[in-house]
Amino acid sequence: MIVATLIVSALAALVIVPAHAYPFRKTLSWGADGPDVRALQIRVAGWYSRGLHRRLHITSHYGTKTVTAVRRFQRAHGLAVDGIAGPHTFAALNRLQGPNGSTAHFSWTEFDQHKSRACSRRANHYAHTFKGGRVGHRQVRRYVKRVMWRLEALRAKEGGHPVVVNSGFRSVAYNRCLGGATRSQHLYGTAADLQVPGISSHRLRKAARHAGFSGIGCYRRLSHTHVDLRQENADLPRERMWWWPKRDAKGRDLTAGGKPCRGERQHR
Ligand code: ZN
Repeated sequence: MIVATLIVSALAALVIVPAHAYPFRKTLSWGADGPDVRALQIRVAGWYSRGLHRRLHITSHYGTKTVTAVRRFQRAHGLAVDGIAGPHTFAALNRLQGPNGSTAHFSWTEFDQHKSRACSRRANHYAHTFKGGRVGHRQVRRYVKRVMWRLEALRAKEGGHPVVVNSGFRSVAYNRCLGGATRSQHLYGTAADLQVPGISSHRLRKAARHAGFSGIGCYRRLSHTHVDLRQENADLPRERMWWWPKRDAKGRDLTAGGKPCRGERQHR
């Protein structure tokens, strides 16, 4: 009897929504509007894209693209595929929710500013925070959260390999020390530099195209991949165009300078 009670309470505990879950109030479907739709869109946007110059816009309106994104999320998570976000979809999303508003496989500390011995005290002043950028720290966190959810989709689509974040948010002074671009998306929290051990940079760039990133960059000498959400950066409207590596006739990804990205020679 005691065992049965324990089992029942254990099952009840599984059903209880975790404290850090988003409180979706009711089932959402095509035509719905409001903050819950917005929260849903932020979480499923990475499932919409399929390597084309198309993405799910975070509009707070549940349109056809949101239906598609929800359907793809459901299919990938073994749920009934109906494009309607109900209790099972919310439960699957909440399992991907981490403590303190992060996501299950990413933490805020991976994205806050790092510290470098090569940089001045002033540049390191905002280490381990989201302060000192081009926007306030709350806005930075909102952008970082979107990046995290996109990366959850990328990670799941690539078979669950851990994604290593080399660099996320940077303060203006720190970015200057690293020689980053003046209008870098890293100053807003919309960008991350990544590596996935066991996956080539070429494949990672392709995965980023499939996970809703509007900015993807590669380098001649560095093996990490830069991804960002420049089209969603409301604080830098002039940079809101697609920015993906061009490809040459041999199918090699090219840097912004038109040279093959690191590893592309060996790749083919
Ligand atoms: Zn970068």
